[in-house]
Amino acid sequence: MAAIELRGLSKVYPGGVRALDALDLVIPDGEFFALLGPSGCGKTTLLRTIAGLESATGGSVLIGGRDVTGTQPGGRDVAMVFQDYALFPHMDVTDNIAYPLRIKKVAKGARRAKAAEVAARLGLDHLMDRRPGQLSGGQQQRVALARVMATQAQAYLFDEPLSNLDARLRLEARTFLKKLQRELGVTTVFVTHDQAEALAMADRMAVMEAGHIRQIGTPAEVFQRPANTFVAGFIGSTPMNLLDGSVRGDTLEVAGCKLPVPAAAEGRVSDGDTIVYGVRPEYMTYSAEPAEGALSGKVAIVENLGASHLVTLDVAGVNVQAVVPEGGEPAVGDEGHAVPRRDRALVYRDGALV
Ligand code: ATP
Repeated sequence: MAAIELRGLSKVYPGGVRALDALDLVIPDGEFFALLGPSGCGKTTLLRTIAGLESATGGSVLIGGRDVTGTQPGGRDVAMVFQDYALFPHMDVTDNIAYPLRIKKVAKGARRAKAAEVAARLGLDHLMDRRPGQLSGGQQQRVALARVMATQAQAYLFDEPLSNLDARLRLEARTFLKKLQRELGVTTVFVTHDQAEALAMADRMAVMEAGHIRQIGTPAEVFQRPANTFVAGFIGSTPMNLLDGSVRGDTLEVAGCKLPVPAAAEGRVSDGDTIVYGVRPEYMTYSAEPAEGALSGKVAIVENLGASHLVTLDVAGVNVQAVVPEGGEPAVGDEGHAVPRRDRALVYRDGALV
């Protein structure tokens, strides 16, 4: 087990694509860390550079305090699950899972027992004699996960480990993976583009954009106080309302409405500032009656979220969304008023949280 540290890590691919731009990051020993970001932001490149499958073009990678920047993958003592699983087609599930143990010369009985134990926890126990070609994509993915988890390593690296599971299995595997990681205490870095998965599983996470890390924090920190408008727009199953506005004396003018300055921004904004007002749809109180400090407009869309509804108001030509509890939902065309929670709203200036 070991901490992972990146110092000024850069990767420029031949042709000039700057996939990683001078990243600094410390992942303490035993942490479950998520790399989150949109397609092409550099998540896979970062994971592969930690594993040694890509060579850094600048900066360094340390694992357990040891500089491994020039070390071959085999010498780094990390185990990685690839997006394409990399299973051996001619081996059955048991042998695939036990393969790294065979390389380490673990006795046959012991490695088969270990393979069976991990496989059982991933719900693969009835498939042990099958070959990868006889498994579904989701089952293959679990075999690849089991192979890594049966291995003793200083760190585990997972590239989209749950992407091929159906929605229900994905939720189960998420819980399982988190529990197993806790028990094993092995430093784990996993890549995902699913913000809900990162929020649910990670101890801490980094949100990436175009080769840069835009925020590092616990899921609660990143959800409640996104450091910039990029992260604010990326995190949350219903995206945060990000509304252009300005400071007018001691109030804000947003979409033609007058709002109080949020608690977090008090004393941090000045008259005349151009701002972006951020508030999650979940942090709005919706009412059919006019209310002070409300964003008021006409109901444009009502979407069913199950136990609640997502209501989109057209406020002077700007879409504003609010989550409305079951039973309280308006009809399209109604007048509606959404009051942001003052203790939850945020203000961004020049893209950064004030
Ligand atoms: P996804 O979620 O789609 O897998 P990602 O965040 O993992 O994306 P990377 O695969 O790390 O992104 O790619 C980062 C950038 O580097 C992209 O612009 C990609 O096109 C580029 N890139 C990746 N591999 C290579 C390569 N071998 N040669 C040149 N450019 C590459």
